[in-house]
Amino acid sequence: MLPRIGAHLSLSRGGLGAAAERARELGADIFQYFPKNPRSYRPKAIDRAELGRQADRAGELGLPSVAHSPYVTNLSTLDERLARLTRDSIVNDLEIAEAYRSPYLVVHCGRYVGAGAAAGREAMIEAVRDILARYQGPCHLLLENTAGQGTELGQTLSELADLVAAINAGRDDERLGICFDTCHAFAAGILDFDELDAFVAEWQRTGMEKLVRVIHLNDSKFGFGSHKDRHEYLGKGQIGRENLTRFLTRPEFRRIPWLIETPVAAEEEYAEEIRVARELATMGGAKEGDQQDE
Ligand SMILES: [Zn+2]
Ligand SMILES: [Zn+2]
Repeated sequence: MLPRIGAHLSLSRGGLGAAAERARELGADIFQYFPKNPRSYRPKAIDRAELGRQADRAGELGLPSVAHSPYVTNLSTLDERLARLTRDSIVNDLEIAEAYRSPYLVVHCGRYVGAGAAAGREAMIEAVRDILARYQGPCHLLLENTAGQGTELGQTLSELADLVAAINAGRDDERLGICFDTCHAFAAGILDFDELDAFVAEWQRTGMEKLVRVIHLNDSKFGFGSHKDRHEYLGKGQIGRENLTRFLTRPEFRRIPWLIETPVAAEEEYAEEIRVARELATMGGAKEGDQQDE
């Protein structure tokens, strides 16, 4: 069985219902979206009835959705004003995602900038705790692993697992999880496709089977350990078709939905990206019994 496969679509062309319709045309069975302008953290007013109608349309089409927070927030900032804007914005995103009945909101781990990694980590723990205390709804918050570009936190699986444990501090809030991005992990130098057995062992050791709810499936423009976050079309980057096939045919990664965020010039190109993902996932190395998808 293959998991649900989809891509990042825009809500600017008719909202979530229209995005679900386009997702269906592209051959997707799930999709991701920005709940508001990705360059803005100004909280957006929520018309729950209207968002509910949009969610009904997506539901009729059988298309679940995942929200992705705007990039401008920084969970690790020590700047009081930016910290407040970040928290308010993410709480607002969770509320929008809930109104759209999306089960998950993805956020990037913080950047500590001049504060140092330890202070940045403390600030991020405090910020996420505050967000989950203020937002009491069912939407899960997923922390995304990073390429380690600049001063980004959250590069390794053990660092992510530690962050989750520190944020929860024994309370085990199951709304906190992880989004795993293949491009970021490759660029961070933690996903070596020649050592996939070791990677899977680390995945299990750090509890990722339980924590990871979404995989961002992207190729990388730059090399292993480059610490550069630049996505590339599937199979056309430094990861390549063979490595992607190895990854996608492992049962551990086939229980989690795959969302593609490759740098397409137009949304229509995601039809081909989704087709490539399905093709690679059913190639050579696929285990017996894995082929009877849909
Ligand atoms: Zn991503
Ligand atoms: Zn990225």
